[in-house]
Amino acid sequence: MELTKIICPKCQHKNTNKTYKQIGNELKEKVLDRTLFRFKCRQCGYQALLDYSLQYQDDEKKILIYYVTSQEELDEVMDLLEDESVISDTKDYLCRVVCCQEDLIEKIKCFDLGLDDRIIEIIKVLFYKKIQNKYSIDAIRFFEDYKLKFYYQEFEQAQVQFDENLYQSVKKQYPNLSQDVRIDFDWAISQMTK
Ligand SMILES: [Zn+2]
Repeated sequence: MELTKIICPKCQHKNTNKTYKQIGNELKEKVLDRTLFRFKCRQCGYQALLDYSLQYQDDEKKILIYYVTSQEELDEVMDLLEDESVISDTKDYLCRVVCCQEDLIEKIKCFDLGLDDRIIEIIKVLFYKKIQNKYSIDAIRFFEDYKLKFYYQEFEQAQVQFDENLYQSVKKQYPNLSQDVRIDFDWAISQMTK
């Protein structure tokens, strides 16, 4: 935990806020509800979401997620991950790199349920292909259990349920997916067109 000085954009009060560089699963709920990123001015009560990079490490599930907020940091982390000597402590961890808070939250939810995020991304693509002619899709997110949430026409959102059978059949269909650190929609497309 670090203490970071933040000047309130509304009243200019100098606040001291907790921020984190590395967290474990004891702070998981605070990531999921984003209170970890919340700033509230002690003087005027102004609230905002902060954005800062952090490393989420779950030693029970052996999961390591790097959340980065800039291209520079993304490059640094990707470099670091190529150097095996640096990551020897977490060599047997499942590692992911994400670039937005929504992705961080989604990965944590996914791994918590014991689901493979690679399969989830492929299911998103399958679903996208089905509805892309009907809606202009902005984003598709894994939501909970076997549910996806999709955002369309800028402000609309809807949920869709898939079942374990679909999950298992996709898993069977793609038995040799690579274990990359950047697992997202584009990655899924690249795997499906191999
Ligand atoms: Zn203030």
